[in-house]
Amino acid sequence: MSGSLVVVGTGPGKAELMTPATLAALAKATDLVGYGPYLDRIPATRPEQRRHASDNRVELERARHALSLAAAGREVVVVSGGDPGVFAMAAAVFEAVETGDPAWRALDIRVEPGVTAMLAAAAEVGAPLGGDFCAISLSDNLKAWATIERRLRAAAEADFVIALYNPASKARPHQLAQAFELLRTIKAGYTPVLFVRAAGTAEATVIATTLAAADAAQADMRTLVIVGASTTRRIGRWVYTPRGATP
Ligand code: SAH
Repeated sequence: MSGSLVVVGTGPGKAELMTPATLAALAKATDLVGYGPYLDRIPATRPEQRRHASDNRVELERARHALSLAAAGREVVVVSGGDPGVFAMAAAVFEAVETGDPAWRALDIRVEPGVTAMLAAAAEVGAPLGGDFCAISLSDNLKAWATIERRLRAAAEADFVIALYNPASKARPHQLAQAFELLRTIKAGYTPVLFVRAAGTAEATVIATTLAAADAAQADMRTLVIVGASTTRRIGRWVYTPRGATP
């Protein structure tokens, strides 16, 4: 007897942004595994469904737990926020498969895409990701800060729009300020900067400013920061990046 494991994302917050494929996987699951607040976004479907809530920091442990449940024949759904493949649980599941029980490689493992924060944030303000862009997580839990700085510099020099995930947390209050300092040495001071908090929810807020004026204290763990390219511009209350050099 072999079960299955589906990794899903809840989207940025509001129920309509969870995909029907994700809802179908959730409805079939015998076991839900995930960070408590993400599990709380899932409407109760079946009374016999088990929920295994865990702390945010123990991703690899959570992935191993989910894999052993699937190996024992359960229909497991691992729940992430946003898209499960963007700085989230899908990669943790494959890290656990790579380093874990060889039998896990034969399991039925599937990933359902979700709406990632960057897309919900962009939609709140217009079309800032209309040209080439990249995404960088500012969290140095799993990589060196020097690596993050090297990527920020390269992205700025290549004139990408930059979406910054994990811009701040209580454990790392100074890094966004350092990132802005670095970007100011390469990008113009008038470059649009957006702080989009709780994108894709009823509480969404937007602060639109410039790189010269951007204040790192305005970001928290629920904020996605977008730093424009040289072509990113404001038009009325919108911000967009043209698809080519000139609109
Ligand atoms: N897998 C998630 C990202 C996990 S990293 C996704 O695809 O969206 C966590 C970071 O995502 C947060 O620190 C924040 O920068 C961003 N984030 C998640 N949800 C958000 C939301 N609703 N609004 C703005 N940023 C969000």
